[in-house]
Amino acid sequence: MTLPDRLAAVQAGVTDAAADAGRDPGSITTIVVTKFHPAALVRELHALGVRDFGESRHQEAAPKVAELAGLDAVTWHFIGQVQSNKAKQVAEYSDVIHSFDRQSLVGPLAGSRVFIQVNLTDDPDRGGVQPEGIEPLAELAAGGGLEVLGLMAVAPLDAEPRSAFARVRGLSESLTRVLPSATALSMGMSADYADAILEGATHLRIGTAITGNRPTKG
Ligand SMILES: *Cc1c(COP(=O)(O)O)cnc(C)c1O
Repeated sequence: MTLPDRLAAVQAGVTDAAADAGRDPGSITTIVVTKFHPAALVRELHALGVRDFGESRHQEAAPKVAELAGLDAVTWHFIGQVQSNKAKQVAEYSDVIHSFDRQSLVGPLAGSRVFIQVNLTDDPDRGGVQPEGIEPLAELAAGGGLEVLGLMAVAPLDAEPRSAFARVRGLSESLTRVLPSATALSMGMSADYADAILEGATHLRIGTAITGNRPTKG
């Protein structure tokens, strides 16, 4: 399949899953994850109508975003772990940061639009705050001038994605009781986006299903 074919196939998959869920596909943003791919691929996708792009590594994203500064109406989503000493720079070129997960990022990310990343595993290296830490972090963020859009999660490898996403949906309901505007849900990747849509995802982060395999492993 060519790039336009893969993009069209995913768009059709999103429309189908939205219909199954009784949802408006227009309420779902598909972010195409272009990590490890050159700026040229972003240009091709842009020519096909894509406007939301996801990157996960600062050292790669910073020059890529700079190189593509001339592209119209692009929204850059940062989806990788944010190193504390790079956070201010990440905030400068990212429109939305999906991986806000700790108090020490409140200062450097002030003024940013963020998702709170939830860690659904017991492994602290996976990134994300443990579920019980969501509400205190949300309050610190709101108090520190961050705009919290909602929650972000990655389904754990050893769990059934649908039930992982259902859990995130429940956590989101609790969060919106303290922060009513934080209704968005960033979840769903190439292999599990249909399940994510059934559980209310508003932002899908899709890489390989659209781009094809990444040049090096990510
Ligand atoms: C790479 C990545 C994705 C996209 O993964 P695919 O399986 O290629 O769709 C989504 N979310 C995060 C956080 C990623 O790092």
